[in-house]
Formats: sequence, structure tokens, C-alpha cells
Amino acid sequence: MFDVQKIRAQFPILSQTVNGKPLVYFDNGATSQKPKVVIDAIEKYYQEINANIHRGVHTLSQLATDAYEISRAKIQDHINAEHLHEVIFTSGTTHGINLVANGFASIVTKGDEVMVSALEHHSNIVPWQMLCERTGAKLVVIPMDENGELILSEFDRLLSDKTRIVAVNHISNALGIINPIRYMIDKAHQAGAAILIDGAQATPHLKPDVQALDCDFYVFSGHKICGPTGVGILYGKEAWLNKLPPYQGGGEMIKEVTFEKTTYAELPHKFEAGTPNIAGGIVLGTAIDFLNEVGFDAIQKQEKELLQYGTAKLSEIEGLTIYGTGEKTSVISFNIEGIHPYDIGTIVDKLGVAVRTGHHCAQPIMNYFNIPGTIRASFAFYNTKEEIDIFVEAVQKAKMMLS
Ligand code: PMP
Repeated sequence: MFDVQKIRAQFPILSQTVNGKPLVYFDNGATSQKPKVVIDAIEKYYQEINANIHRGVHTLSQLATDAYEISRAKIQDHINAEHLHEVIFTSGTTHGINLVANGFASIVTKGDEVMVSALEHHSNIVPWQMLCERTGAKLVVIPMDENGELILSEFDRLLSDKTRIVAVNHISNALGIINPIRYMIDKAHQAGAAILIDGAQATPHLKPDVQALDCDFYVFSGHKICGPTGVGILYGKEAWLNKLPPYQGGGEMIKEVTFEKTTYAELPHKFEAGTPNIAGGIVLGTAIDFLNEVGFDAIQKQEKELLQYGTAKLSEIEGLTIYGTGEKTSVISFNIEGIHPYDIGTIVDKLGVAVRTGHHCAQPIMNYFNIPGTIRASFAFYNTKEEIDIFVEAVQKAKMMLS
């Protein structure tokens, strides 16, 4: 049985006060909080088995290597990747996208097209723009409508035999909109294009099945799923990963080095140059175990209730507009007429509530709505309706002070 108080008790930070008020943490879209098992696992790694991996014959090195590879296998299982070597450790979503975009420089040529959507985080725009600048390819953008949903007829129309890759998020960070990626993956493949899914905002809420999705690449960050910062995952289909050149050169990623020629290691090591975030990689497995123990059904149920409750409560405030009204996850992005989002954010912070204000690294979305930014409350399964009451009251207070 899902007991939110029992869950909250496992997150030490949630019992803190901030500015003299109990912390209400609604900035989960930016990063999640960490349960005690995750915090303890980091400490345990450094206290007991810290050593470099894949190199030493000594016991600690083997223990650390085993723990790192066990975590990789957990992640393989979690996302249902066919092969273990399709799971590449990265430093996060941004790293994963850059790795793939860089690799596509060997595939994309002048006149080709690279497609992103109007709903992307800057991380899933800029690396593709850089690729286009390098290769002379054209960046094509799938437009969105006023509900924050992608216009699929436009997507269909824009796809062509020139499209080399489509890069789209599973769930939008700024609005919480869930994109119809199953449809988009099939369509991209029918057009002969590869497709990368940015799962940074989806993985906190669901378990992606990369084989059922049939995507070519799926990327996400550890820190948004109760894991540490500085670690993430790139899943890629074996055939694609074999086709792409390495991203960074260095130790770990080679088979043999001479001054005349270097040959590269097999997957996954080809893409894992240098000493990785070993503790992060190991503890990402701990975080995934934790989430699976809570259960994604329970997580979704709790978050759906919070979304409905929060939407209803906030909608009672006069002059409040919510952006993104299509099918979505537990994110409410809004503004109050005549008030800058930053001012609301600052006042609610004084009342103990952490929300994100600004463009959320998605400036094109803000430009579309012709606004400087929004206030974004993003709920996690450890949040409560009582916290939403505190937040709504804080917003009302802020509105009164600023009107
Ligand atoms: N894509 C999306 C949809 C995101 O929400 C984020 C993080 N806000 C990123 C990419 C980048 O993730 P990271 O900063 O962990 O690399």
C-alpha cells in the first residue's frame, strides 16, 4: 500500500525548514530529491570499495567494477534493452544527446534534414543546431499548438527522405506534455529516419520499454530519478551504436593504441572514455531499485491525483493561466496576469515553497506564448495535497502583495 508519509520519511531533506517554514519542494522537474538509501549508498561506495574500474586486478577494483556492471544490468532490465552493451553510462541527458549528435556528423551531409520539435529543452536543440552548422544540414522544427501539443499533421508533412534523425522529448519539461512518441517513432522509421527520445522528464514517471517503443536512442539523467547528479544513460540500438564513431577519445575506450593507429574497444566501452562517475553509476542502480519498490503504478496514481488537485485549486485564482493543457504529467506551468513569474517565485520561496520560474531552458516555447517565462510547479510522488494547499495560499498571498 502506498503511504505517502512513509515514503516522505525516507527523504531526509523533506523534513527541513526553509526560511523558517516547512519545505514544500515542487521543483522536481529540475531535479528530484534523494532517498536515504541513495545517500547511504554513495557513502558506502567511498567508505568501502572506492577504486578505479575495469583496470585493476586488485580486489577493490574488482568489487567496484562488479558493482558498476551490476548497475548497468539493472538499467538494462529497467528499460528492457535487448543487450547489456546498448546501455552507455553518460554524465546525463545533455551528454547523451551531444554524443549522438556528434556521431551523426559522420552520417548527415549538406541538404539533409535534422528534425526537432517546438517543445524541446535547449539540450535537445543546441547539439542538433551545432550538427547542422557543421554539416550544412537543415534544422526542421515540428510546430506546436496552443494546448502545448505537437501538430502531428505537420510532423507527417515535414518528414521526408531527407530526414536523417528526429529528436523529440517523451515529456516536455516546461509544460509536462506527453508526446505521442510511439506514433512518431513509427513514422520516422517509415521515412527512413532514426529517432532519439529525450526521456529526461519521462523516466521519473514511467518505465520506458525501449524495445516496445522501438526507438533508436533513449536518453535520461540519474538526478531526476532519485539518483545522483553527474550520471545518466544513453540507450542506443546495437546497430546504431556500432555505426557511430566514438565521441571522446581516451583511456577505457580503446582496443590498441599506437602512434600510427588506434582501434576502439567494443560497446559499451567505445563510448565510455576516461574514468566515469563510478559512485554515480553504481548508485543509479540503487535509485532505480528504490523507484521500482515504490512502483510506477503507485507513483503515477499519486502524481495524477496531485495534478488534478493542484490544477483545480490553482484555477480558482483569478487571472491565472495554465500553459499546456494537453495530456500531461504532474507539471503545472502558469502565470498570473500582470505579474512577472520571478516575483511570484521569490515570494513563495520566502514562504518555504520551491518552484521554478523562468523559461525552463525552453525559450522557443516561451516565445510561442509570447511570455518571458512561467512559474512551474512539478510534483513528485512524495508530494502531498496539503503541500499544494500551502503553495496555493502562498501564490494567493504573492498575488495580493504584487497586484
Ligand atoms: N531534456 C529535458 C526534457 C530536461 O528536462 C532536461 C533537464 N531539465 C534535460 C534535457 C537536460 O538534462 P541534464 O541537465 O540532466 O543533462
